Amino acid sequence: MNSPNTNLAALTPNSDKDTIIVRVTRIWEAINKRNGAIIHTNVILLDEKENHMVAIIRNNQKQIYLPLLKEGEVYTISNFKVVPGPKQYKSVDSEYSLNFFFKTKIEKGRDFATIPLYKFELQPFHDVKTLVGNPAMLIDVVGMVRSYCKLERRNNGAQKMDVVLTDQRAENILVTLWEDRAAHFLELLPPSKDDPLFVVITGLLAKKFSDVASLSSTDATRCYLNIEYAPITTLQNDMSTTSDGNLARLHPPTVEQFVTSTGNGVQELPISSILQTVIPPGTQVVRCICRAKIIGILDGNGWYYNCCPTCGRALGDLNGKFYCIGCDEETPTLAQRFRIVVQVEDPTGSTTVTLFNKEAEQLVGVPLQKILTDQAEVQPTHFTPPFGQKTRPYPTNIIFVLLPLHHAQLTDVPPVVRNIIGKVCAFQIKITPYNIIQGCEEYTVTRVSEAGGDVNRDNTITDSVDTGSTIPNGGKRQKLV
Ligand SMILES: [Zn+2]
Repeated sequence: MNSPNTNLAALTPNSDKDTIIVRVTRIWEAINKRNGAIIHTNVILLDEKENHMVAIIRNNQKQIYLPLLKEGEVYTISNFKVVPGPKQYKSVDSEYSLNFFFKTKIEKGRDFATIPLYKFELQPFHDVKTLVGNPAMLIDVVGMVRSYCKLERRNNGAQKMDVVLTDQRAENILVTLWEDRAAHFLELLPPSKDDPLFVVITGLLAKKFSDVASLSSTDATRCYLNIEYAPITTLQNDMSTTSDGNLARLHPPTVEQFVTSTGNGVQELPISSILQTVIPPGTQVVRCICRAKIIGILDGNGWYYNCCPTCGRALGDLNGKFYCIGCDEETPTLAQRFRIVVQVEDPTGSTTVTLFNKEAEQLVGVPLQKILTDQAEVQPTHFTPPFGQKTRPYPTNIIFVLLPLHHAQLTDVPPVVRNIIGKVCAFQIKITPYNIIQGCEEYTVTRVSEAGGDVNRDNTITDSVDTGSTIPNGGKRQKLV
């Protein structure tokens, strides 16, 4: 056996006879998103010089090597192949990775604490926006947990939660944890809720939504809460010795229904208060959370609408042609979006809220196009759209009504949509001058979460409510969120 090489950075592809002494810092499976199959298993190795490298264990080697390796332990590994590392979604900044082969030997070594427990490729929050769409490296971040939301279960069974981190520059970043990463974060939370919480989150991808960069978990993601790690100590020190030297910036995380990167929680209000909300002068919108049960669907104006495929606005009628006021042109094709007005109630009262496409689909759990396609299959006669426009097949039983800026389909609400009746949800809604001046509730829902729980009312599920009247939004351009 060669004398152990303690420096992973010195390995080259020319030899398969090296011996290394390393700590296994992380093991995870790379999963094929499309079919859920395991592609291979990644093992991150760290040496005492703080070089790290990923060893890739193929599925046919798992039974041989994985039982020998445990996170956190130190091993002497000899005879392995040094191969070019992955070019994308790299977890470690290393040119090479390791493959094991039939001559590879793995022996558990003694831990002399010369090899650190962790190494991360930390990125400052203000750099995340420059990494959106750059798949070369996965991102690791360290921060104080400012807030996190409750675990949210989607209709398709997926679960997610958002965590907002803050750094020494008082910048915030929102991290969305999916599936077992979300559950794992909750499991790691200490029993005491009174202390500040510091975390390293690894293996993230940068995303951009509405011009705000955020981070999203991947297979490689792992959360490390309150670990002994120098950058966490530095962050704690930096944050506790600010200009005025007080410790006010170190605070325990808050638990919110929805979190945003601004970190400002939105107040939860009973319906009786929502109805009486006054918009302060100089403010365009008041946001609040309404926790209520869906007791009916107002289908007087349809549960979806025709919109411009370019900008998503409801279409108008110009000399008998579909016209988009946003794009200022006739539209050759139509798209459809959900717009479901639901009646909700809590123990203090009842009101109506409007679920647009994204939030409606989240609750319904089925994309609108699939529902329309399924309906068309039940009734295969294709709907002939007016004005000879190309569109998707429609059910035949619809009455096509032209409204000033809104083409509603007065179809029966299909069962898959009616399934949302009875759900108890937290709705983040916006109250605008329109709601107040027009006396029209139908508050637009900007976020929704199936809250579960009880709104402290009997569980009678009433049927869909048909107002029989059109919804008074004629002339109003509905900006879609
Ligand atoms: Zn348009």
